[in-house]
Amino acid sequence: MDIPKLRHWIDASWDGSILDQLRTYIRIPNKSPHFDPEWERHGHMEAAVTLMADWCRAQPVPGMRVEIRRLPGKTPLLLIDVPGDIPGCVLLYGHLDKQPEFTGWSEGLGPWEPVLRNGRLYGRGGADDGYAVFSSLTAIAALKQQGVALARCVLLIEASEESGSIDLPAHLESLGDAIGDPSLVICLDAECGDYERVWCTTSLRGNLTGRLQVRVLTEGVHSGMASGIAATPFRIAQQLLARIENPVTGEVLLEELQAEVPADRRVQIAATAGVVAEGVAGKLPWADGTRAISRDPAELITNNTWRATLAVTGADGLPPTANAGNVLLPQVALKPSLRLPPTSDAAAAAAALRTALERDPPYGAEVRFEEDPGTGGWNAPVFASWLEQSIERASKTVYGRESLNAGCGGTIPFMGMLGRQFPRTQFFITGVLGPHSNAHGPNEFLDVEYAKKLTACVSLVLADHARSLAS
Ligand SMILES: [Zn+2]
Repeated sequence: MDIPKLRHWIDASWDGSILDQLRTYIRIPNKSPHFDPEWERHGHMEAAVTLMADWCRAQPVPGMRVEIRRLPGKTPLLLIDVPGDIPGCVLLYGHLDKQPEFTGWSEGLGPWEPVLRNGRLYGRGGADDGYAVFSSLTAIAALKQQGVALARCVLLIEASEESGSIDLPAHLESLGDAIGDPSLVICLDAECGDYERVWCTTSLRGNLTGRLQVRVLTEGVHSGMASGIAATPFRIAQQLLARIENPVTGEVLLEELQAEVPADRRVQIAATAGVVAEGVAGKLPWADGTRAISRDPAELITNNTWRATLAVTGADGLPPTANAGNVLLPQVALKPSLRLPPTSDAAAAAAALRTALERDPPYGAEVRFEEDPGTGGWNAPVFASWLEQSIERASKTVYGRESLNAGCGGTIPFMGMLGRQFPRTQFFITGVLGPHSNAHGPNEFLDVEYAKKLTACVSLVLADHARSLAS
């Protein structure tokens, strides 16, 4: 294989068409079904999947089949099947649905307006995870240009990831064994600790959300009349949350939400902490004077990737401050969002959470907790030696630095599903969500140079995979 030629071909594909495609894609507000229940009527998901399918069909990959799969009431699934030159199969995964807009975009930037600035393409969904299909298929096409023998490659691009992949199980069922038995899964929907090397995700946390409702009165009452007699629902909610999380340290207290960090992962955490150091905390957009929870980068990484954490992400029943009178509010509802350790059981965690919140309510208040369907975490199987060497070599060849492995604080539901379905499969989970790229928040960007290089690394790993099958 001629690596300079490979990289040149990949760069030309990015500059000649992918960036334009991503600009068009960013303009489509195809929010995930949780954030746009009327997605079907709005037609944005259709626009996004059609854009991608049309681009795929135009790529020079002999024998490729591109199909938009549809099921009633479900978001579409884009399936691209590239026949193999040798037996075996690789599954490449990404998603095309997006997070909602969020607020706080900087001057001149916005979720649905692509802006290329200093090598970064800003806009919602470019990095999370619109680039995945373009990058994956370009990595394959670049190898085909040079006649490199590959196993069959199946690209699976779903459209409900940001809603917990709710539609994916039905699609997988309708596919039956059409995907085959992949010996390698490549996922381009994860994080990178910096823009200097390949980062490989070795674990994911689970996710558990729900609605906690606390009702004290049947209607609001003048706080001068009621306070001191009735407890406020807000104070009761605080007490209930303190059963889950120590409000001073942030430590999650429930037994069912704890996990032991395996020895190999502790070694990886130490290595990442050594390289990224101050950057572990420094990647966040801190308000003036605010410090991280700990000064120890390894402790922060452990918190972020292996420990349960709680955030309250929404509230009902609290008026905006500008419109808040002196009223003892009758009820509040909060949305607790928990990240779960990679090895924890989401169903057991949900049951423990409900029990802790609903038992023995203060002052006999009406307390209800309704959990959403949870997603378990995932801890990767040990790397096969060919894959470990391949990722390392790709990183050194393309970026000039060794690769690093790290846990991811987020959740990719499909990896858990795949891990259960194919327990012997190897996983190369990587991505472009690096420092300040801010997927889910304002000012999301794709670092274009990093993504081009990562595309080349995917090519190199695919070629090594084929070689590992042949030997
Ligand atoms: Zn994503």
